[in-house]
Amino acid sequence: MVQMDCHVHFAKPEHDENVAAERDDSPWNNSDYRGKTLAEFIAERSEYQGNSIIDMIVQKLRGIKFPALPHVVEKIYRAIMDPECPQKLVVLAMDYPGSTQPTHEEMLRLVEAFPDIITGTVSVNPNGKDAAVILERRLKELIELNGKLGNGWRPGVKFHPLAQNFDPGDLKAMERLYRIMDETGAVIVTHTGVFQRIIVERDIELADPMRFREVAERYHRLNIVLSHMGTPDIVVTNWWAAQGVEVRHFQNALDMVMRFPNVYGDMGGLLWTGDRPAGVYGEIAMGDYDFGDRAQFGFSRVRSILEEEKYSIPGSILRLLGLGSNQLHEKLIYGSDFAVTRIDDLKRQKEKLGFNPAENTERVFRATRRAASLSQVRAPPRPLRCA
Ligand SMILES: [Zn+2]
Repeated sequence: MVQMDCHVHFAKPEHDENVAAERDDSPWNNSDYRGKTLAEFIAERSEYQGNSIIDMIVQKLRGIKFPALPHVVEKIYRAIMDPECPQKLVVLAMDYPGSTQPTHEEMLRLVEAFPDIITGTVSVNPNGKDAAVILERRLKELIELNGKLGNGWRPGVKFHPLAQNFDPGDLKAMERLYRIMDETGAVIVTHTGVFQRIIVERDIELADPMRFREVAERYHRLNIVLSHMGTPDIVVTNWWAAQGVEVRHFQNALDMVMRFPNVYGDMGGLLWTGDRPAGVYGEIAMGDYDFGDRAQFGFSRVRSILEEEKYSIPGSILRLLGLGSNQLHEKLIYGSDFAVTRIDDLKRQKEKLGFNPAENTERVFRATRRAASLSQVRAPPRPLRCA
């Protein structure tokens, strides 16, 4: 069975002048990659030296002018070579000012260069000018490319209600966008959970999985993936409780996943072994990651809280996920949040959950029945004839 990762970030350096150097300096990437050039990364790993598959990946990336960053190269390499790692990758776009994720044009080129491995997503900022027009055009381009490559993927659409500052539950404002996505049988991958913007009270509602309840009810052809399952983090929950606010994002995510056939959850960045969580999450928890002036995400506040309390998911929640019903197991899919997490994250999730969520993911993205295309859906219905 094919294993698929629905939550992959190929974040680029924030400063364009570093692109040429291919230095992995996104603050989101874990310390296996951060600050390293491709040459430095390969120098640390003998199995990658003189490796023809690595060379092929690097050549292809340079050929499409996408920086051959260490985390990008390793993720694709392990998809090809390591049966313990997901073979299919949903790489996420992210449309908001200052985003370091691939642009739409880069995304199309990535999908075309690695058609057996990468399935792309589109992103649009719902607050931006002509959002519906842009979404429609980008979806059309991705669907046409998928059709040309014959890969049979539903088109993914990435949303981040906190970073993009919009309310997914505002059906009036969002109606046209949802209608376009529904017509094309798209899969929404949306951030849920309050971790990133803990200090901004307004955002707590935008990050609530329940904001998608009416969307799931009304648009049946859409699949919705609640990333991070609302972030079931006891520290964040306790912090809000001390402010007199009850955060029920995880419970709401669970409720949505169980109630709606078209809603799924990924556990990106939430499970780890031992005391030290993986990647950036772990470094925040250990207090040894310098977020500098990234105060817009409230990280410094998070860090001071984490120094006082241990950052963890309550054992009862883990038990619930691990020992839950088969129905729940089928609805939890694999999203790594790589390269925030480490490359072997799937192993950790399998151990903790007791089943393989990456085998569920493909069902969510595999196009079934009619292959979606905008022109097909828009064609006027043929008149019915009585036999
Ligand atoms: Zn993410």
